[in-house]
Order: sequence, then structure tokens, then C-alpha cells
Amino acid sequence: MKAKEWIDKIQDRINRNMIDVEIDQEAVDEIKGIMEKATPKKPNWIYDDEPLCPNCGDVLDGTEEHCDGCDQRLDWSEW
Ligand SMILES: [Zn+2]
Repeated sequence: MKAKEWIDKIQDRINRNMIDVEIDQEAVDEIKGIMEKATPKKPNWIYDDEPLCPNCGDVLDGTEEHCDGCDQRLDWSEW
């Protein structure tokens, strides 16, 4: 699910006075993960010539805006 769908789900539960700590904590954790992946991260470099995804470790080709493996947004600004 996308962040907005998780937020709608929580909002709906709040509106109906139906807070469930376990379910709502899971939704918040999901949203945090989505936000984290949307924040660009610098790739990890091996031997200065092979970029790896900082989130899942997939090998990158140096042009993608998002990792193909995990959808982490990437920051190539220094390269
Ligand atoms: Zn990745």
C-alpha cells in the first residue's frame, strides 16, 4: 500500500473511535518505511567504481532514480 492509503486507514479508524495499538503501530511503521525510501540516499560504493543500493545492496548502474530492487530513491549528486 502507498503512504496515503495507510494514512486513510488510520484516519478512518480514528473517526470511528477504533484505535488498535497493534494494527495502528504497523500502519505507522509502514508509512515510516515508505517515507524513508522516498528520501534520496547516496549509494554505497565498492572500490570507488561499483555503486550499491544503500537500502538493499543491489548493484546499481549509476543512472536510475530509484533502486529496481527495493524502490529506494537515490542521490547521485556527488557523482
Ligand atoms: Zn535497493
